[in-house]
Amino acid sequence: MKPETRARGSLAQQVIDTCIAMNTHGINQGSSGNVSLRYRDGFLITPSGMPYDRLAPDDIVFVDLGGKPSGVLRPSSEWRMHRDIYARRPEAGAVLHVHSTFATALSCLRIDIPAFHYMIAVAGGTDIRCADYALFGTQDLSDNMLVALEGRRACLLGTHGMICFHDDIERALWLGIEVETLARQYWHARQAGEPVILSDAQMQEVIASFADYGKQPGREG
Ligand code: 13P
Ligand code: ZN
Repeated sequence: MKPETRARGSLAQQVIDTCIAMNTHGINQGSSGNVSLRYRDGFLITPSGMPYDRLAPDDIVFVDLGGKPSGVLRPSSEWRMHRDIYARRPEAGAVLHVHSTFATALSCLRIDIPAFHYMIAVAGGTDIRCADYALFGTQDLSDNMLVALEGRRACLLGTHGMICFHDDIERALWLGIEVETLARQYWHARQAGEPVILSDAQMQEVIASFADYGKQPGREG
């Protein structure tokens, strides 16, 4: 096997492992989400509507930034959202889209998640916005998503779910779990009362402190 084929196979396996991990972590149901990884002049993405536990590396589809797929199976119906993130956000190394329960519930109410907790900064700013609704798989959905992702690494998708990206696939999975956790906490806080929202100044302090949070001497990541 050529080294290039082996490298692609191992990246495709990372995509599959991440899909299985999202279901294990309870942030996705069945095959309703999708995952991709930046690769060459495009990305490797899950095929549409396939159960994750039946996927083999060759089933993961390559799509170039022009939207041209190459592979046996059809790519995720949401390839446009993934493509647009890679094209518009050079820092994105991996993208994850899920219908996690609490993020989806909030997306159905069409509300942004405000700075009710300082961890909201993991998404890159002072809130996690909810994009306007559009039919799944459409360019309209992707256009709405790009607006909601301005200055952010995650957003809710109106009456649909959430999407996030990060430098690499491990961090993208971590962020997906964080966003769902925040959505769940916000949901619970709202059941009990009206959460106090941190001010912009308080959130700027958080964002500044996050710059070196979790960095330990001699350890990467
Ligand atoms: P795919 O199975 O085509 O990836 O679609 C799942 C989904 O979440 C559509 O929004
Ligand atoms: Zn979806």
